[in-house]
Amino acid sequence: MTSPSQARLTIDLAALAHNFAVITEQAGGAEVAPVVKADGYGLGAGRIARRLMAEGARSFFVARLSEGEALRAALGPEPTIYVLDGLASGAAARLVAAELTPILSTVAQVGAARAWAAANGGLAVGLQADTGMNRQGFTPQEVQALAQSRVALDGFNIRLVMSHLGSGSEPDDPRNGEQLAGFRALRSLFPESRASLAASGGIFLDPDYHFDMVRPGISLYGGGPREIPDPRLRAVARLTAPILDVRGLRPGDRVGYGSSFTAHRPMRIAVVGAGYADGVIRAAKVGGHAWLAGALRPLVVVTMDLLVIEIGDAPAEVGEHVELLGPNVLLDELAAAAGTVAHEVLVRLSTRAERVYLD
Ligand SMILES: *Cc1c(COP(=O)(O)O)cnc(C)c1O
Repeated sequence: MTSPSQARLTIDLAALAHNFAVITEQAGGAEVAPVVKADGYGLGAGRIARRLMAEGARSFFVARLSEGEALRAALGPEPTIYVLDGLASGAAARLVAAELTPILSTVAQVGAARAWAAANGGLAVGLQADTGMNRQGFTPQEVQALAQSRVALDGFNIRLVMSHLGSGSEPDDPRNGEQLAGFRALRSLFPESRASLAASGGIFLDPDYHFDMVRPGISLYGGGPREIPDPRLRAVARLTAPILDVRGLRPGDRVGYGSSFTAHRPMRIAVVGAGYADGVIRAAKVGGHAWLAGALRPLVVVTMDLLVIEIGDAPAEVGEHVELLGPNVLLDELAAAAGTVAHEVLVRLSTRAERVYLD
């Protein structure tokens, strides 16, 4: 049951479709394969992916095996689902049962995949090469050794060779060009496989980064590829919450716990029914805003269930909803105020807020 004082998370699937179209246009002819890990960046992987399939998506990426299994159940047999975690030992039967395609990243995973393929027949896989991010993927030497050893890859259908950029959101970082050159060399060892390098940042960098497939995550959900708002993209998540009370403060009045905020002049505040338990990151109380009566209003306090905004002389009615994230309180600006990235703002949105999907 929803209560009238509950925060509401509206997920705008038309905005998602718009962003998919913008990215498709930007990607030239490359396939756009949405990244829906972490439950579609917190917005509901099943609903998000079904809408993107209706818009033409045919391949998806998740991080975990369990996410892949849930997505297969939601989408049916048609799309390709890549699992970035690859293949943990003992997981092959589950991967095969759900028709998931693991992205292998370590020599141990190749061993596990070979053992499966020897006993059960072929296996479709992807390979991830580390071209400089030092996080996940085969070293260039390992990729070369794999390419030379036909035995090691016997029984595999290598559908995809991929890598990931460490600075795709920073166009001037020389590391991008270095990673691009490294990736070109490695992908050429697997001429029959498709190639993918770009996530959101790389898609908007330059067509050289597109290859056969691009893997957008945050830009689908409205986050700018350069970690600042991009007017071409629309907000997919909109968090609102009702005003519970409007009060006046005198100089010296404190708000909330301890001395977290003290009024230094007379001011009007509104108490709003959402807090960090709904996903409003507490650190955003400095520099973050809510949208009320056509203007941004500073956050002054964020507690677990309640937050406080300064409203000047704005009209404010108890029960009226203020926007805490959405088309007016931009994802990238909230992330900057909270000292984090847009990805984290989205995945922290909790399930306590009532969820509404707009088609
Ligand atoms: C998360 C992830 C993506 C998507 O990144 P965004 O910055 O959200 O576009 C793409 N590829 C890999 C390997 C990832 O881990």
